[in-house]
Amino acid sequence: MDMPSDNQVRLVSSAITSLTDGLVVFDDQAQMRFFNYAAQELLGLTAEEWATCDAPTWVERLAVRSTAPNTVRARLLAVLEARAAVPSVELELEVAPESSRIVAARCFRVRDGATELGVGVLLRDVTRERTADAMKSQLLATVSHELRTPLASIKGFATTLLRQDVQWDEATQHDFLRIIEEDADRLTEIIDNLLDMSQIEAGALRIAKEPAQLRQLIRDVTDEMRMRTEAHYFVVDLPADLPRVQIDPRRIRQVLTNLIGNAIKYAKKGQITVACEVEDDHVTVSVSDQGEGIPPEYRGKIFERFFQVDNSSTRRVGGSGLGLAISRSIVEAHDGKIWVESTTGQGSTFRFTLPRAHKDGNE
Ligand code: ADP
Repeated sequence: MDMPSDNQVRLVSSAITSLTDGLVVFDDQAQMRFFNYAAQELLGLTAEEWATCDAPTWVERLAVRSTAPNTVRARLLAVLEARAAVPSVELELEVAPESSRIVAARCFRVRDGATELGVGVLLRDVTRERTADAMKSQLLATVSHELRTPLASIKGFATTLLRQDVQWDEATQHDFLRIIEEDADRLTEIIDNLLDMSQIEAGALRIAKEPAQLRQLIRDVTDEMRMRTEAHYFVVDLPADLPRVQIDPRRIRQVLTNLIGNAIKYAKKGQITVACEVEDDHVTVSVSDQGEGIPPEYRGKIFERFFQVDNSSTRRVGGSGLGLAISRSIVEAHDGKIWVESTTGQGSTFRFTLPRAHKDGNE
């Protein structure tokens, strides 16, 4: 190739500086000769830390920030010093406390014809891809585990009913069929949750808001949920002048069903209260139970997908850990907030806000 013109050099060097991937180049003496903005941003070292840096020092600075310092140190040094066949190393770095960023580092030899000039390291932020991978594995694990339990039960009871050698009396047959029906409902619920979650992930949750009356919606849901339990009693406490809210009734029904369903699942017995408080521009709906409550360290986390408090009641009742994540997405799509207040040993109150409908009259 002809000697590049000044313009070309300028263009190429600006391109490298502006690359969205990070680039770090060491010379054949393992001294750092170049890094671009993206590398600086991705690795989060200070300007002093970057200045006059040789390869071992640089590796050490990255290693101490990683979640597995020894592995990172050993693999990066092997790559930089031994100049092994172009390997790729994945680093996991703590950029800010609690948020670890996963950076993939790929090394390559810098050559000019036959002359070895040094080693280059390309850096790319792969946190999102890795999180998506982790979510997929989690999803598969959940699907296989959670679907298996009701499926096994449906299969077991159907097989039992079909046995030729036993005559089941009518009451027993009815009991078995009821279990099959409940487990089939459970399967539907898990599949619906998974579909909703994947829609939410894809940013495709459709919310069709309309002015709606909460009173009727709450009555319908509580009437339906009452049928699911004999161990609980319901108190519905609504103000006389409950204004209309701007909501997608089907979705808000889903949120209420989930919160009341959790109250039934996680509080063994007692009162479940559904109440509303009217504020200037919104209505706050609450669902309270008298269960074990939620330990303070978990109160923020339970709204994350797949998160379940690991205790005996969660193991007893089973679940997918998606209900509250879906509820939060639905409430947020209504510009509302959802949170929990809980006293360990005494119960939990979940609250969420909904916007009041414009130009409303009272119900
Ligand atoms: P799932 O019920 O399928 O596990 P959720 O997202 O609805 O998933 O709930 C997440 C976790 O929050 C539950 O596993 C449970 O540990 C906890 N939780 C939810 N509601 C309650 C409640 N009313 N009382 C105590 N713990 C609760």
